[in-house]
Amino acid sequence: MVSEADCLFCRIVAREIPAEIVYETDRALAFRDVNPQAPTHVLVIPKDHYRDAAALAAADHGLADEVIKAAHEVALLEGVAESGYRLVFNTGPGAGQTVFHVHGHVIGGRGLQWPPG
Ligand code: 5GP
Ligand code: ZN
Repeated sequence: MVSEADCLFCRIVAREIPAEIVYETDRALAFRDVNPQAPTHVLVIPKDHYRDAAALAAADHGLADEVIKAAHEVALLEGVAESGYRLVFNTGPGAGQTVFHVHGHVIGGRGLQWPPG
């Protein structure tokens, strides 16, 4: 397991910080965002630590696939797969990434504007 002691999301994986987990596989974890921006707002992460989507894709294509599949499972569980949902990987500070353990935001359950401001 690749982890960083001072990483917030590694600590959620280690169950050191509580989170409302909605879906889990051997290598991926999904939990509700603490500050939801929509009725469904779930974060999907690989359990191993990669700083962003680019690092994950470069290191392990299979794991990147697994995270995206997990995001779709979350959408099915949350009942937004049919109506549509957004899967967002903010990548880098300029894009609004604030937690540097790669995470996809699964956002749905309301109308979503494009482009996203
Ligand atoms: P980013 O801005 O990096 O794309 O997204 C980070 C997300 O993590 C934000 O939407 C923020 O609300 C969420 N977040 C920050 N700290 C915590 C936490 O301790 N628990 C949970 N569940 N979400 C968090
Ligand atoms: Zn981490």
